[in-house]
Amino acid sequence: MLSAEEALRHLLDACRPVTDTDIVATLDATGRVLAADQRSGLDVPPMDNTQMDGYAVRAVDCESGEAVLPLSQRIPAGHVGEPLKPGTVARIFTGAMIPAGADAVVMQEQCSFDQGANCVTVNHMPKAGEWIRRAGEDIRSGSVILSAGTRLRAQELGLAASVGLASLPVVRRLRVAVFFTGDELTMPGEALRPGAIYNSNRFMLRGLLQQLGCEITDLGNVPDSLDATREALRTAGNGHDLILTSGGVSVGEEDHVKPAVEAEGRLNLWQIAIKPGKPLAFGEVGKKGDRKAFFIGLPGNPVSSFVTFLVFVRPFILALQGARQQVPRAYAMRADFNWTKPDRRNEFLRVRINERGGLDLFPNQSSGVLTSTVWGDGLVDNPPGQTINAGDIVNFLPFTDLLY
Ligand code: AMP
Ligand code: MG
Repeated sequence: MLSAEEALRHLLDACRPVTDTDIVATLDATGRVLAADQRSGLDVPPMDNTQMDGYAVRAVDCESGEAVLPLSQRIPAGHVGEPLKPGTVARIFTGAMIPAGADAVVMQEQCSFDQGANCVTVNHMPKAGEWIRRAGEDIRSGSVILSAGTRLRAQELGLAASVGLASLPVVRRLRVAVFFTGDELTMPGEALRPGAIYNSNRFMLRGLLQQLGCEITDLGNVPDSLDATREALRTAGNGHDLILTSGGVSVGEEDHVKPAVEAEGRLNLWQIAIKPGKPLAFGEVGKKGDRKAFFIGLPGNPVSSFVTFLVFVRPFILALQGARQQVPRAYAMRADFNWTKPDRRNEFLRVRINERGGLDLFPNQSSGVLTSTVWGDGLVDNPPGQTINAGDIVNFLPFTDLLY
């Protein structure tokens, strides 16, 4: 059996990242992966400006601590004032450009304005530079603001917009074909026959793929037969980067995925030392000469499918997209539970963060209990054979890092 790390290494080594790019409007680029470094063509902020509503002054004019100075102008944000006449103050509003000659801003709460005399009493001795945001203090013109391989979240888009980038080069969306094996599978909305179950993996896996920005071709349920599985693979192989399936990857008589992939391409079936989710199939589908689609077959048990997606498929998809960060980092957290009979395999336990900042364990860790994934805040990555005593520090992978 391969360890989880070895299996992941195999996948990432076999990956050929997609290199086709799209130019997309920055407004529409959420979740895409940046294809090239982006530099700023300007300083941000572009000019010295005030951080407060108040009065722009020359610090030397205010050294008495109660200077009375005539008001010479008014500068709202977006407008350019005149150079400040020595011995006067300028009314100024947050974000407005500092007029030439001024070297500090005094906030309005420290000043009083006499309308009749058109004078301002400055009850403060400002230091030079006070309340001034300097040009370029956030970003220097010419510097790299976002590097290739960055997944674009809200804050990256805000940063790109702050330097005026209206569009961005991104890796084209991955085309992923999915299908679900199992004669027992029924779609919600249909009546459940005796012996049947609803196809929950279809909904879960589509959701996971959507969050990663994939274009999905959903071939639906496929019966447990070699011919039907081969036919689905041929369809899925066409024009897709990746084929993802659920179920049928064990080695029982009703598990047709392994021989089907072997007939339509080539396959590695791995027994991976993880729990849940032991069997994982990886290979390629397609004829000689054509661009082949990668193939990953996930186990059918819903929690196994979910966990193996997060541990293996998600990093593989991120690598295909050329994303820099593929493997999530683990956080050291305190276990507030005991785990006295660990498996010899690397376990991924469903846990939740409690009010004391520790982790509670979902009582039923069975691979069919999807409730644990909804109840939980993440997974504990527990090394093979490791017992856990309450108070121990464990490796925690939060869903907030795994599910975006
Ligand atoms: P398999 O991997 O095909 O041997 O399936 C293992 C278990 O997962 C069986 O109990 C199946 O009924 C169940 N299962 C397989 N596919 C799905 C699915 N798409 N949704 C929910 N359960 C499934
Ligand atoms: Mg099956």
